Amino acid sequence: MTKPFQGGCRCGAVRYECTAKPFAVFFCHCLDCQKNTGAPFSVDVIVPKNAVAIKGELKGYDTAQGKVTRLFCSECGSPLLNEPHDHPDILALKASSLDDPSWLEPQAHLWVIRKQPWVKINDALPQYERGM
Ligand SMILES: [Zn+2]
Ligand SMILES: [Zn+2]
Repeated sequence: MTKPFQGGCRCGAVRYECTAKPFAVFFCHCLDCQKNTGAPFSVDVIVPKNAVAIKGELKGYDTAQGKVTRLFCSECGSPLLNEPHDHPDILALKASSLDDPSWLEPQAHLWVIRKQPWVKINDALPQYERGM
């Protein structure tokens, strides 16, 4: 049994706890993630939805032609998680919303077709042009 891990937004109004080990961790270079985070890529932590308990008020909006809901703190706007509608049993937590993201082990780069040319990948992880 893995230790539960916690996270939340910048202001503290939203907190979550996840009791399951992530299925996967990946870098996503898609344009939606770039716009959503204000950063050139996002690091997503894929976990089972039923293992996550959230306290506090989230707001959200749909992207990817309505296929993904992106949720953020209603107070401070920190991006916290995505809900992919095609996979209602999982959530993608934003890695930097974890209290301690240092133990994460990213496994792949997704959507490298949208990667900014000044982002240099210097690891040996698999790269996918689009999603996996
Ligand atoms: Zn907040
Ligand atoms: Zn993305």
